[in-house]
Amino acid sequence: PSSPSRCYKIATIPGDGIGIELTQSTLQVLNRLASLTNIQLEFGHFDWSSAKYHERGWYMPSDGITQLREYDAVFFGAVGWPDVPDHISLWELILPIRKSMNQYVNVRPTRILPGTVSPLRNCQPGDLDWVIVRENSEGEYAGQGGITHAAPYSIATEVAVFTYPGIERVMRFAFETARSRPKKHLTLVTKSNAQRYGMVLWDSVFYDVAKEYPDVRTDKMLVDAMTVRMTRNPKSLDTIVATNLFGDILSDLAAGLSGSIGIAASSNLDPTRKNPSMFEPISGSAPDIAGQGIANPIGAFWSAAEMIRWVGDGKLDLEADMLMKAIENVTAAGIKTRDLGGECNMLDVTEAICGEMDRIS
Ligand code: ATP
Ligand code: MG
Repeated sequence: PSSPSRCYKIATIPGDGIGIELTQSTLQVLNRLASLTNIQLEFGHFDWSSAKYHERGWYMPSDGITQLREYDAVFFGAVGWPDVPDHISLWELILPIRKSMNQYVNVRPTRILPGTVSPLRNCQPGDLDWVIVRENSEGEYAGQGGITHAAPYSIATEVAVFTYPGIERVMRFAFETARSRPKKHLTLVTKSNAQRYGMVLWDSVFYDVAKEYPDVRTDKMLVDAMTVRMTRNPKSLDTIVATNLFGDILSDLAAGLSGSIGIAASSNLDPTRKNPSMFEPISGSAPDIAGQGIANPIGAFWSAAEMIRWVGDGKLDLEADMLMKAIENVTAAGIKTRDLGGECNMLDVTEAICGEMDRIS
């Protein structure tokens, strides 16, 4: 590993349910990684959760974004609890962070880890290795619309807003991602047969940007047909770019096909690097298994590895790779939580990964 790095400041927002346990395990793994390498990490802790929302009536203080801007990155567990409607935490915490920090791309890598099985018959590790690039700032989550008239005559409109620059910037990121991977293949997912404005604009921006990337092979899918292709021919896909809503849905499908939502990682990136980016496992707070120490921590660790890679901006790739290698060696050895068919709990997996980092460092 490289020479001593500067100190990276990481804000943690554990949130609720398994988010709290996952964040704790992630800190354990990151502290071990730091002790074995020359990375210096300093953590800040932000208790912005549904539990606190009950007490205080808010998720994030009014200067919350300013506080987070003091950090190099944000690690987020999961937020939400059955006693608060989900859209409140989404619109008061997660979306404000994504939007005000200009985190306009959401990257979701998916692959079948060694020693784990996909629910797809005959699908081996290597047959499913995707990166989903999801637009993270506009589209179907633009928050435009409203409800008129009283029940039972209510009419709701939910207006998706797409802009050329908003599409173009995520498209460029997707092409760069595709170019950086061996297959150099990008698949666009829209629904331009049925949605004739926004999705048609997506298609045309895709073709405009594609001209700058002649080395990237492209194809285009309608989102409905895409779900079939993902399940029937996973090997034919590599990098995928989709709108906010479609990217959200397809990445849950991708997580399921790779074995469990518990291994799914995501990065909310500001590619301009003017604001901290945010890293979080895809899964929610999972109240059904919260507090039992049985959640799969791999999605959180994978997110943490991507966080190290991002803040290092090319300088900490070896360290990020070391964490990923340790995760893969541990799953290959059969040390897995129940969602992956194993019998281990979160602590077993966490300690095994720390031990594996000791061994390979
Ligand atoms: P959200 O509303 O934020 O999507 P959710 O709690 O409704 O969150 P998820 O957390 O996405 O739903 O996951 C659904 C179920 O998958 C959980 O209830 C849990 O049983 C399982 N699950 C999720 N994350 C994990 C994990 N890390 N390890 C094991 N099982 C998990
Ligand atoms: Mg979910």
